[in-house]
Amino acid sequence: VSAETNAVAERSRAQRLAAELGGLGVDALLVDSLTDVRYLAGFSGSSALVLIVGDGLSGALERHRFLTDFRYTAQSAEQVPATFDREIVSGELFDGLAALLADAGAGRLGFDEANVTVRGHRRLGELLGESWELVPCNGAVARLRAVKEPVEVERMRAASELADEALSGVLEAGLAGRTELDVAIELELRIRRLGADGPSFAPIVASGAHGALPHAEPRDVQIPRDVLVTIDWGARHEGYCSDCTRTYASGEGISARAREIYALVLDAQEQAMHALAAGRSGREMDAVARDVIDAAGHGEHFGHGLGHGVGLEVHEAPRLSRLASEDPLVAGHAVTVEPGVYLPGELGVRIEDLVIVGTAANDVLTGLSKTLTVIG
Ligand code: ZN
Ligand code: ZN
Repeated sequence: VSAETNAVAERSRAQRLAAELGGLGVDALLVDSLTDVRYLAGFSGSSALVLIVGDGLSGALERHRFLTDFRYTAQSAEQVPATFDREIVSGELFDGLAALLADAGAGRLGFDEANVTVRGHRRLGELLGESWELVPCNGAVARLRAVKEPVEVERMRAASELADEALSGVLEAGLAGRTELDVAIELELRIRRLGADGPSFAPIVASGAHGALPHAEPRDVQIPRDVLVTIDWGARHEGYCSDCTRTYASGEGISARAREIYALVLDAQEQAMHALAAGRSGREMDAVARDVIDAAGHGEHFGHGLGHGVGLEVHEAPRLSRLASEDPLVAGHAVTVEPGVYLPGELGVRIEDLVIVGTAANDVLTGLSKTLTVIG
């Protein structure tokens, strides 16, 4: 992907956001989550904020601003497109922002409550005084980020393919007799060797009863033969994440119970995959899988939501859960479908695919088989 393609994408993101500000009732929007800054301005450093200027503002504040400190003078010159006026601030970024806004007179400044800390908000309030009113504008960038452009989908596809290849390599040496930790470390190593930025999160490798913990940490404990092993992992490639889970058997002799639960989770997962479509809500989607698991009497053992958005972050909007909004999913949403059943002290199964919601057909980024597979 060329830098030019990136610059075009970033310009259009900033413009789309600017066009929404009127509807949100603000004149400008403060963006200070570094992930949002990366999305809008292509900057990958660790100190920056962006000010998106609405169409209504003119005079001193006509153009979008990118603020960083002196350490990032060179990097920002290289990464930030000309859509933004760059300001190198000496001292606190909020002080630089306040100075800009003071020059522009008065207005309403939107911010995201999920990103600006209470302390930051107080500080900003003091700096801006009476002239600029701080207005909560939550999720404006998150909603934009949730809908992936083709260039983002291709990065996520590459991340998924890389993650699949890394796991396939790890599984060649088998599972039984190795420690969970050893499997996790080798997986991370292979992800890096294959050219990813790194893993998108610390891999989960959980065998036997440990698999009943959805967020189990890999232990320095040997994986026994004839148990289920849940592996949840992903790669980050050019900033974009993948996320996948497979549950394997470490021998032919797994219990009838293990086979039964695996078949149930697979059924729920496939029904949800089949139902996933633009126009349906995240709450509806969760119910599709939950109904299958409920009907088998395991409702209480499916203790998390069906899935989540993925992109620059491994967990982002939209959500697929009982608590999710009734807003319809739209083409371009990148979501996971990951039902699980966890029997405390006994076993756990989770199966997760990463999918781009499509207008006609969905685009499944995960390539590994979901048929119960024995990796001895
Ligand atoms: Zn996962
Ligand atoms: Zn996930």
